[in-house]
Amino acid sequence: MNNIYGISHEKLVQAMLAKGQKSYRATQLFSWIYEKKAQSFDEMSDVSLSFREVLKGEYYFEVPKIYKTQKSEDGTIKLLLELGDGHKIETALLRYNYGNALCVSSQVGCNMGCSFCASGLLKKRRNLEVDEMVGQILIMNALLNEEGKGEVVTHIVVMGTGEPFDNFENVMDFVRIANHPKAFAIGARRITVSTCGIVPRIYEYADVGMQVNLAISLHASNDALRSKLMRVNQAYPLDKLIEAVKYYVFKTGRRVTFEYILLSGVNDAVAYADELSDLIRGIEAYVNLIPYNAIDEKGFRRSDDIAVKAFQNQLSKRGITSTVRKEFGADIDAACGQLRAKEK
Ligand code: SAH
Repeated sequence: MNNIYGISHEKLVQAMLAKGQKSYRATQLFSWIYEKKAQSFDEMSDVSLSFREVLKGEYYFEVPKIYKTQKSEDGTIKLLLELGDGHKIETALLRYNYGNALCVSSQVGCNMGCSFCASGLLKKRRNLEVDEMVGQILIMNALLNEEGKGEVVTHIVVMGTGEPFDNFENVMDFVRIANHPKAFAIGARRITVSTCGIVPRIYEYADVGMQVNLAISLHASNDALRSKLMRVNQAYPLDKLIEAVKYYVFKTGRRVTFEYILLSGVNDAVAYADELSDLIRGIEAYVNLIPYNAIDEKGFRRSDDIAVKAFQNQLSKRGITSTVRKEFGADIDAACGQLRAKEK
């Protein structure tokens, strides 16, 4: 038995063809599942009774359960969800003026071991299944529907717990379902996957033939510092990473985002802004400067406003565009993995 929410349209077409059905059957089912929000095959009145029985024998409908809800004064909604096997994951809705972005988790825990991040406090237990990522959208849309203002999730950022490129196939099927016009119809340009820098997967991502966005967690402008902060840099150092990013930009024509957490006294000196400018010079990119959410166990501190401004000014002088990430849900443990870590 398979969870129906885990099947991409492409895979459902193959499954239908294998049963001697026409391929439009997959589109019809997608429309029932996602547009009409059917929660059983019995609701699918234009599917024959006998074929409904066939489908029931192969697929079931199941979404994660809401374990805990936190709503912030700024509209941020953060959920702790319980999966079928009892593991818990976080998902968060961030409300921008241009839309509602859902921050999706891709794994239970994380093995990347970045020294500043709370997600790695709990080692990776397993990858998330496609349906468990799709479930994050379904549940958030259902909550928004209850609020009755006609809002839905309009943007996806795969920036929750986990390393999406360590769960590549499932994340890509999730992206396909998020993007499919009969499912969530979220445009590829409104979907961003963030990676700590697993180089071979960046090439694969560039080659999938979708206009999906890429964000790179950079956080340091030289190998010595980056290897200290992010273990992944020992396997994939900066020259290899930058080469892969250039390939992505060349292949997709999309601008790439470099994420850079400013850590006080660690990577926020103006000299690093110069080094960063040199590193990414000539790449169609912009830098997203991230105010650090301090985590007790980690010992890093957020850079003060003066350091942030100085860093940003220096980037600007060197012709690099940057923004300082807007902060959400400061009152509700917004930082990655904090809610989940607390529950354990
Ligand atoms: N593994 C992926 C996606 C999850 S992390 C990646 O590394 O990109 C999403 C982003 O949040 C990354 O840029 C990560 O470095 C950053 N992040 C992690 N801990 C943080 C914290 N305490 N404060 C601010 N940003 C954090």
